[in-house]
This record gives sequence, structure tokens and C-alpha cells, in this order.
Amino acid sequence: MMQPYKHEPFTDFSVEDNRQAYFQALKTVEGYLGQDYPLVIDGEKITTEEKIISYNPANKEEVIGRVSKANKELAEKAMQAAVEAFKTWKRTKAEVRADVLFKAATIIRRRKHEFSALMTKEAGKPWREADADTAEAIDFLEYYGRQMLSLKDGVPVQSRSNEFNRYHYIPLGVGIIISPWNFPFAIMAGTTVAAIVSGNTVLLKPASTTPIIAAKFVEVMEEAGLPKGVLNFVPGSGAEVGDYLVDHKDTRFISFTGSRDVGLRIFERSSKLSPGQIWMKRLIAEMGGKDTIVVDSEADLELAAQSIVAGAFGFSGQKCSACSRAVIVEDVYDQVLNRVVELTNQLTVGNPAEQGNFLGPVIDNNAYKKILEYIEIGKQEGKLKTGGIGDDSKGYFVQPTVFADLTPTSRIMQEEIFGPVVGFTKAKDFTEAIEIANNTEYGLTGAVITNNREHLEQAREDFHVGNLYFNRSCTGAIVGYQPFGGFNMSGTDSKAGGPDYLLLHMQAKTTSEMY
Ligand code: GLU
Repeated sequence: MMQPYKHEPFTDFSVEDNRQAYFQALKTVEGYLGQDYPLVIDGEKITTEEKIISYNPANKEEVIGRVSKANKELAEKAMQAAVEAFKTWKRTKAEVRADVLFKAATIIRRRKHEFSALMTKEAGKPWREADADTAEAIDFLEYYGRQMLSLKDGVPVQSRSNEFNRYHYIPLGVGIIISPWNFPFAIMAGTTVAAIVSGNTVLLKPASTTPIIAAKFVEVMEEAGLPKGVLNFVPGSGAEVGDYLVDHKDTRFISFTGSRDVGLRIFERSSKLSPGQIWMKRLIAEMGGKDTIVVDSEADLELAAQSIVAGAFGFSGQKCSACSRAVIVEDVYDQVLNRVVELTNQLTVGNPAEQGNFLGPVIDNNAYKKILEYIEIGKQEGKLKTGGIGDDSKGYFVQPTVFADLTPTSRIMQEEIFGPVVGFTKAKDFTEAIEIANNTEYGLTGAVITNNREHLEQAREDFHVGNLYFNRSCTGAIVGYQPFGGFNMSGTDSKAGGPDYLLLHMQAKTTSEMY
């Protein structure tokens, strides 16, 4: 009998033993920095001349590792391997497929801090954020494994007296997994194993800034007993390998997490038929967000300020769920704003390998430049209250930044910045605050801070986001507790970590026998 699912607890770093364990894990990771990692195609490790080099964003000189880089030819080889492996993997019992996930979860749990420490180095994740990322990766494995077991016999349907009907789910085929750098373990692993446990075979193209954690995960899946050819590892450029695979006639579905622009490009390309293609490709897309915390006049204002700061600056705002807009009812506006500025000024920015730093670096030079450009725009559009400064002498550090007095349609209030920047705007009442919250093209997360029960119910109806939170911040969805995904330009509302997620990777078959 399987234990019921429960999410993986977070590590309490106020406990000295846990701190020591994390330092030890950082040492372990430092011991293997700079190594080379191969592609994995049909279980074969392939080394190429050309490499993707992964750097520590907190220390540009430090090479985390170098992964071999796939080209079109190798992508084609991986596709053929996946097509071949699908023939047997789709017939492998659901229990056996799920067992691979459960074993992988166990292996990761044993080396939990090592994976987190690797993310501290490779993605610049502060301890707490890295620990949550690893916990979420474990959660996806445990949750989707169980989910598959509950789906394996299909769903009951009615039968008349002279017939026998069954309704069950079969896998789709070969999937392309294109994963992001901001949850380089959780989302990479979650999107990959959801596809695999459902009986599909995949090609995994990880984000080019965080390929090492992905390479380590591929090793874990092999150790957990995944047959060769089921998970093929093909890091490479989006323009070359990504497009090639998205366009490929044998691609059955694409599971993408990343920016709105890349998502729309994939949406368009994947809708065109390639010669020989006999299906409409399915697209699962998780894209951006421009997420709002609304603060009502009848509210716990300290909770409001804490929630805004945590949501805006956790992992330097590099989450599609991040709070990048604060919409405050006018009679409490100054109070909330001032308290947010005060709390923001207490945050420390620095090397994420040191325990106390709340913010580490942003992911790379492109992100750094883009965020600083937005800060300049913010200075034109509103009032800079704190932050606004970057330092890229050693790594890509940006101070947490608060802009006040923006109009709801300003660029800072509309465009996804993906950095530690939050904009404030005033609403005359709660109804107007919700209208402002809804006035972007996105619809991912949102939060409402109020003690007014009617206003909570009003928000439940009218605040149009996939994940709506009351009296808490808008980040940190837990697998199996708060299924995650958004509306409109935030993607296909494919709720990761939810009860319907695996079905997106399957198709339903009805069989009906007369007798
Ligand atoms: N699931 C994460 C959260 O709830 C965000 C995922 C993302 O940024 O892509 O904070």
C-alpha cells in the first residue's frame, strides 16, 4: 500500500545541523565544478565538440560545468530513439513507470542539499529558495506517480444490458520538454516526469543557463531504472534544436515553460503541419505573469507589506508568480508603501551561498540589462522609492526596487520585468482595485489582503487569475495543494501539480463491445 501524498517539508535552516549539512553540500558541489556532461540519446552518452558553458551568476568567473550541445543531426537521432522507445514504454505497466518516479524521489531525498546547493551555484538561488525548488521536484515525482496509479484503469462509464463499455487513457507519443531556468529542478523534472509516467517518451531541452542540474537529474532517472530511449537529453540552442524539434513531424506534443514571446512562437510553429505528420500537435505552455497583490482598506497592513515584499523579491522576482504590482486602496496607500520601503531596505543582496542573503543575483547579463532598462523606464513613469541600482562587477546583482505612484497602464505596471521590481498604484475603492488587477494581458497569480468577507467573495468571482490567494503572498504554490497555471497570455492553464495535469499528456479511448 502506498502512503498518501504529502508535500516534502522545507528545511529549517535555524537548526545548526541543517546549516552544516548545507555548507557540506556546497563543498560537495564545489568539488565537481567545471566538469563536462554528455548528451544522452538512447542511453548512449555522446560528447560533442561544441559546449554550452554554465556560469555562476553570482561570480561570472566560476564555471559550473560544460554540457555537450546538440545540433539538428543529434536532435534527429534523439527523436528516432524516442520514437523507437515509445513502442515498448507505452506498453510498460503504469505501476512500473510510477515506481521509477518513486525511486527517483528517494534518490533525490538522499542527496537533497546537494541538488539545492547546485542550484545556489548554478541559478544563484538563496538557500531557502533552492531548498523549496528541490522539495518541489520531489513533490512532482511523488504526486505524478500516484496520479498515474489512480488513472491507470480509466474512469467508469455506463453500459447497457447488451454491451460492455470501457473508457481509459493511452499516451500520446513523443514529447518535447523545453524547461526554464527559474525553477531549474522542479519545473524541469516535473514537466519531464509527467510526460514519462503517462507513457510517453521525451526529448528534454533544458534552459541553456541551467543545464547542469538537468544533467544530474537525467543521471538520477537512469539510476532509478528508466529504460534507455525514454528520456533523451538534448541541450541546445532554441533557434536550432528547439525549432527543429517543435516542427518535427514525429513530435506529438510540446511541454513548454518560459517567456510569452517564445511560447507564442512555439504555438504558431506547432500549429503548422510538417510533411508526413498525421496529428495536431498538443501544446502545454506555461508563460509569463504580471501578478498583483490588492490591499483593501480593512486589512492587516503589516501582513500586506510582508506579503508584497516576499512576493516581489523572493528569488529576485524571477518567478512568473512574482508580485510585480501592488494595487492599494487609497486610504491605506501611504502606510503600506512606507512599510514596504522600510522592509525592503532591510533585505540583503549578495552571494547566495552565504546563508543570510535574501536576494542573490539575477540569472545573466541579458536579464541584468533588461531589468536596468526597466528601472530607467520606471524613473520616468513613477517615483523611485528605493533600490534602482545594479552592480555587475562580480555577478549580476540588482537591488530590490520599489516604484510608487504609477498609472495602472504604465509599462512598469503592464510588462513582465522578471526582476526585483515592484510598482505601486492607488485605487479609489476595492472594486476599482480589482479592475486594475485585471487590466493586463496575463492572468497567472494574484493575492488579496483584506478582512472584509464580502470583498474576498467578490475577488473570488472577479479577480481573473489561475491562482488566487487570500491573506498571503502570491508565490509558492505547493504541488497537490495549489495546482499552478494561469489564464490568457500566462499560458494554456495547464495546472502543474494538479489532478488533471497528466491527462494533458494522454488521450482517451472508448471501447464498446456488443454481446
Ligand atoms: N510555481 C511557482 C510559484 O507558485 C512559480 C513558477 C514559475 O515562476 O514558473 O511561485
